[in-house]
Amino acid sequence: MAFIIAYDRAFGWAEVASAASILGARYDELLRVGSIGASANGKELTLLSVGRGEKHVLFVGTHHGTEHITANLLLMLAERLCGASERGTKLGRAAADYILATRTVDIIPMLNPDGAAIAQSGVYWQANAQGVDLNHNYNAGFAEYKRIEADAGITGGCATRYSGEYPESEPETEALCSYIRATEPEVVVCLHTQGGEIYFGYDDIVPRGAKALAGRMARRSGYVLSEPTGMASYGGCKDWFTLEFDKPGITIECGHGTNPLPPELATSIYKEIEASLLEALL
Ligand SMILES: [Zn+2]
Repeated sequence: MAFIIAYDRAFGWAEVASAASILGARYDELLRVGSIGASANGKELTLLSVGRGEKHVLFVGTHHGTEHITANLLLMLAERLCGASERGTKLGRAAADYILATRTVDIIPMLNPDGAAIAQSGVYWQANAQGVDLNHNYNAGFAEYKRIEADAGITGGCATRYSGEYPESEPETEALCSYIRATEPEVVVCLHTQGGEIYFGYDDIVPRGAKALAGRMARRSGYVLSEPTGMASYGGCKDWFTLEFDKPGITIECGHGTNPLPPELATSIYKEIEASLLEALL
């Protein structure tokens, strides 16, 4: 796998923006660079849109500060799709040309650039700049989660698991939900680290095709199909998308080890998950 960008290093907001603009210039026929909004600290939330198909598929990385390696993984996916399309080759089980003619692959590598910056300063930090854990700030089981949160002694902004004042209170989640409402993607895949697990559905809601897709993704990566339990199972992006749109929302916990995973592992983790991510495009 050859890449035009060196991915095995830590990416923050500036590296994501720079990589996106390099890819946008190199593959100007295939890839458009934009933004879905801005973070609490005013950083543009970079969006790469690959292809021009009617159906949207959305990939989201870095909900959580320490999990910024997921930005690298998603930028690699964008580059691989463009490269294969330009060469006229297959990527995974389908011709890249076909994928990009029938799909628009929307990629948001870093939903939480402020949290990533705090984490990269050496502090354990999953939340955004306002201390809200973005992956508990969606409108799915929010009231139930508030009770669990209180029982856990979480009463305000902190490094992890505080859900915020109300669903979509944060500029990052509000921007993402607005983009999802506008584009109505067929599938949303959220990349987290770590553990080699794949989650689907919400509560007892399993949209048509969700279990089959999650199963194929698990087989292709060797990851384990899992059901979320306890605090992980409320207020997440996958949960809200499942509840609101009744279409497959997937969480993939990439790689193994301790967060933050070493950035030098980006390419090897990407190789582990590429075929799995591509399943979401079929
Ligand atoms: Zn996470």
